[in-house]
Amino acid sequence: VISENILSVNNIEVIYDHVILVLKGVSLHVPKGGIVALLGANGAGKSTTLKAISNLLQAERGVVTKGNIEFMGNQVQSLSPNELVKRGCIQVMEGRHCFGHLSIEENLLTGAFTRKDGAAAIRRDMEMVYNYFPRLKVRRSSQAGYTSGGEQQMCAIGRALMSRPSMILLDEPSMGLAPQLVEEIFDIVKQLNEDTGVSFLLAEQNTNIALRYATYGYILESGRVVLDGSGEALRENADVKEFYLGTG
Ligand code: ATP
Repeated sequence: VISENILSVNNIEVIYDHVILVLKGVSLHVPKGGIVALLGANGAGKSTTLKAISNLLQAERGVVTKGNIEFMGNQVQSLSPNELVKRGCIQVMEGRHCFGHLSIEENLLTGAFTRKDGAAAIRRDMEMVYNYFPRLKVRRSSQAGYTSGGEQQMCAIGRALMSRPSMILLDEPSMGLAPQLVEEIFDIVKQLNEDTGVSFLLAEQNTNIALRYATYGYILESGRVVLDGSGEALRENADVKEFYLGTG
């Protein structure tokens, strides 16, 4: 069977410190070329879900995970995060995580660390990143730690692109950014998706913007998916309007 989903998460549970059940059986699917939003309040388990997928929880002490995760038709729940990056799935962590003491350009280069192809190909992809994020080109020699929050978010996404991913897990791209900048970043995400077919799973507290860009969404509450549907269906849902959009 050829899977139409690039990513399938089936019934994952995450337990912190051996006792705190944070994800209580989460299942979700990202179609090839989709932009899927993972929504929910602070603490609902969005970041934990992304980290479970990218296997960043493996390194945390006392964390137990169950369930299975399929990426491009293969079981990946026991792979290292690096191996997953090599296979094309990469996470952009919440809080942007650029290397503050490196320049923007050096940060982008670090994103190519899993690649075995030559400098010329890496150079080409860097130009591609600069095409999508002209601000990064302007700031290419600046120390990342001294650039704005928006530029650091762009740098984090650009660095992820340097691994040539087919799927990006994007954690809270809107965090701490002015509305106009959030819009700019979501526009670029959409453009990247349309041009290159890269799929996105994005965790967002900003339901309004996420549902305008996402093809599909899941709403998490206390570690469970309580509602899912197309972006449009969720925008029209009475509970979503009342509790998440404030327009009910
Ligand atoms: P946020 O937007 O704040 O990141 P979230 O929906 O992404 O919210 P998570 O960060 O996944 O939520 O956290 C889910 C729950 O797990 C919270 O109650 C949080 O306190 C708890 N938690 C997160 N990380 C750990 C950890 N390392 N050890 C113990 N509990 C944790």
